Amino acid sequence: MRVLFATSEAAPLIKTGGLADVSAALPAALHGMGVDVRVLLPGYPQVLKALPSLQTAADFPALPGFPHVRLLFGILPDGVPLWVVECPELYLRGGGPYQDEHGVDWMDNAQRFGLLSKIAAVLGSADSPLEWKPDVVHCSDWQTALAPAYLHFAPGAAPCVMTVHNLAFQGVFPPQTAAELGLPAECFQPEGAEYYGELSFMKAGLYYADHITTVSPSYAEEIQTDVLGFGMQGLLAHRREVLSGILNGIDTEEWNPAADPNLVQAYDAANIRGKSANKRELQRRMGLHVDPDVPLFGMVSRFTHQKGLDLVLEIAPQLVALPAQLVLLGSGDAGMQRTVLELSHRYSGQVGAYVGFDEGLSHLIEAGADIFLMPSRFEPCGLNQMYSQRYGTPPVVHATGGLIDTVVDCSAASLKRGEATGFVFDSMDATGLLEAVRRAVVAYRNKKTWRALQRNGMNKDFGWDKSAAAYRDIYLGLMRR
Ligand code: ADP
Repeated sequence: MRVLFATSEAAPLIKTGGLADVSAALPAALHGMGVDVRVLLPGYPQVLKALPSLQTAADFPALPGFPHVRLLFGILPDGVPLWVVECPELYLRGGGPYQDEHGVDWMDNAQRFGLLSKIAAVLGSADSPLEWKPDVVHCSDWQTALAPAYLHFAPGAAPCVMTVHNLAFQGVFPPQTAAELGLPAECFQPEGAEYYGELSFMKAGLYYADHITTVSPSYAEEIQTDVLGFGMQGLLAHRREVLSGILNGIDTEEWNPAADPNLVQAYDAANIRGKSANKRELQRRMGLHVDPDVPLFGMVSRFTHQKGLDLVLEIAPQLVALPAQLVLLGSGDAGMQRTVLELSHRYSGQVGAYVGFDEGLSHLIEAGADIFLMPSRFEPCGLNQMYSQRYGTPPVVHATGGLIDTVVDCSAASLKRGEATGFVFDSMDATGLLEAVRRAVVAYRNKKTWRALQRNGMNKDFGWDKSAAAYRDIYLGLMRR
């Protein structure tokens, strides 16, 4: 079985969020199961620098609407083969994959990700210059969501799976973009890629894909509702027969407290004592009072409204008064960044913050914090709450999406069943969050309860095997059609 896995980011080469983690771990898991999966990525400078010995595999001098493109081939360190779309005009620049250094979206994103989608579709059709032909094209989020549309109108096209990692980002562009990107006129209509007079990459993917998946069963239900459908609820409900929710796994080697080079001491479920050295190190590094007994809350997140950081900032004075400490790592919204830094000055010694992206520190926070905070307003799957359970750091989460599917609320009954792993709250406001924070601190003070919570989380299987097998079954189903 041959699968082309098109994505706009893949860890560790280029990462802004969970999509990158999944785009590394899922292909690796499929590869391990004997699937001939190949990743397709844009030739960002970070990718070309990390993989200096890529070989030219094909040339696309005249794709309508796009500059000259070369396709490069290489092998990722985990053995998964990779195609890189080399187009210096569109991809070779500073800043991030979607935005410039100032956090402003690149003006030519339609063309940049139209090209990525186009190449995926060419490789998945009879127009491909390569010998290697995929049985299935798998794309993810709006950045590759035009691929199903191109494929629909291409000769000898492979079936296509579209995975929604976050429906909030849809890639919507002015109407003339459709023709500029070489999409046939018949594609630009309400029964197609048009969305209220504009071109929606996401809608194109959801409309034309042969199968749609999203990253948790709960989110698959939620996106069919007015509250979390972001305008796509009607289309998704209409296509629910081909919509599946498959929970993301985590990379259990990358995220393993027993062998994590970012920690000062390794530990595991059977010997959790080593966790305290990491707490000490985290307190020291973040300028907090070094105190083994005070409950230490951690949060690693994009700073956006989605992630509920505003609520954490709102309750910070009460949290600190419990007493407790708070460590925040992330970047994003400029106002939130400022407030986070102000807070860390006002409560110096009790609140520590780092604004920026720091992979190593994110691992140390998972290990060194006692309790993890993830009060997302919506969360398609979420990875941090799984990392934190694996690191013996029970999470406090809002009851939404993948958080519901991966965290079991602590109660007398769930503790007795050996299933409790964290604290889930319903009411998405400061009172709801603060009440859950208080419950967590009470549990933290009870050694026996706390150990049970930690053990339950650490022993849970968050690996990719089951989910990768579910994707393989979807591919097989499409191949049989
Ligand atoms: P999302 O994809 O919505 O951002 P997820 O929880 O699914 O949220 O995944 C986020 C990933 O990005 C996690 O691996 C998390 O640790 C990482 N991450 C987010 N912000 C930072 C940061 N500032 N520094 C390091 N890692 C970060």
